[in-house]
Amino acid sequence: MARKTLIAGNWKMNGLLADGVDLAKGINTAVKSKGKWNCEFLVCPPFTLLTSVKKALRGAKVALGAQDCHFAEKGAHTGDISPVMLKEIGCSYVILGHSERRADHGESNELINKKAVAAHQQGLKTIICIGETEAERDAGKTINVCTLQIAGSVPDDATAADTVIAYEPVWAIGTGKTPTAKDVEEVHAAVRKALAKKIGKGNANKMRILYGGSVKPGNAKEFLSLPDVDGALIGGASLKVADFLGIAENAGC
Ligand code: PEP
Repeated sequence: MARKTLIAGNWKMNGLLADGVDLAKGINTAVKSKGKWNCEFLVCPPFTLLTSVKKALRGAKVALGAQDCHFAEKGAHTGDISPVMLKEIGCSYVILGHSERRADHGESNELINKKAVAAHQQGLKTIICIGETEAERDAGKTINVCTLQIAGSVPDDATAADTVIAYEPVWAIGTGKTPTAKDVEEVHAAVRKALAKKIGKGNANKMRILYGGSVKPGNAKEFLSLPDVDGALIGGASLKVADFLGIAENAGC
């Protein structure tokens, strides 16, 4: 089975109601105007915009995702959102273990794994993020770090149908810096190998591995044409319709 390219936007903590609805409407119009795309689109707005964005995307083939969830179904977890709540309002995806959550909220591989299991139980697909810091890269530990993150944060029973991996070097996020295509190719191949060890070769070969970190229309082709790169997780550039769609166009979608 061919791996369908996934073009995913992570809006992070950006957008008030009017901005989010405008952006979603712009994406809706642009996606519909071409008709047939050779990729899957996903947007992940902040929790506060999910319901309005869902409405604004009506009729377009753009999936809705959240940026995090708790592992519990309900209960005494002030400020958290559960997978069943996300499912109810129309999400089909949730991003887990983004490096900003790992850094800002001390999220461990173990916690991310637990969240992923809970999300899958509710029928949500997960995008599990991994990636090395600049210091780890400089110390030559990139492959080791990513392999350990795969081993720890991906559930044992994850499949290509419920899980997507995003390789995002922390130092490339929002900085305009990117690894070389050769580096990305090498890490993605190593990630697929680590996945094969964890969930079996058949599953690993079908699982999508996205690249994330300063993806723009200008470098989309370079990264998304690599053999083990199956799409992009896009931060800053996903906040502009032309850039988000430009990435898809330039990636051959
Ligand atoms: C991200 O945070 O997931 C990301 C890749 O951000 P940016 O595209 O802005 O580097």
